[in-house]
Amino acid sequence: PAEPESPYRVVLLGASGVGKTAFASIFAGAADNEVCEKDIEVDGEPATITLVDTWDTEQHMQTGDAYLLLYSITDRTSFLRASELRITLRRFCPAQNTPIILVGNKCDLVRRREVSATEGRACAAVFDCKFIETSAAMQHNIWEAFHGIVRQLRLRRDSR
Ligand code: GDP
Repeated sequence: PAEPESPYRVVLLGASGVGKTAFASIFAGAADNEVCEKDIEVDGEPATITLVDTWDTEQHMQTGDAYLLLYSITDRTSFLRASELRITLRRFCPAQNTPIILVGNKCDLVRRREVSATEGRACAAVFDCKFIETSAAMQHNIWEAFHGIVRQLRLRRDSR
């Protein structure tokens, strides 16, 4: 493609306590800003992500190119909240191809699990988005989530 990739604006959404700050600090490497921009390489091609970690959900619902919709696998209420946020997102971004990944975080807390991976995957299927389980504490699958977002954004870009 002739056009360079512009920074992709990725917004972290989810109930309080699900791990958004932990996610963002792995991405940022230390800095604790509400917005952080970083170059990463995905499938041998560079991509710039501007990550937005916010609790001011409504304000950012229209500004993202893509969304990571987090819940904690140890907190069913946060899973229900993720569903609500998905529905709200649909209202704000009616374009069907806005990349969204439903992220079940804290998968290291095996014995406190309240939401099975099967349920998470089923919910993602209903909501027409991808699904991944992560652990910010173990740094497990965090980059896979960002790579997944970039791959979806590229698919969308290339189909234009
Ligand atoms: P936020 O409110 O969504 O920003 O959530 P935080 O990132 O502040 O995380 C809330 C709490 O959960 C903190 O004590 C984190 O250390 C903890 N936490 C975040 N992610 C994980 C994880 O993957 N596993 C475990 N065990 N704890 C986590």
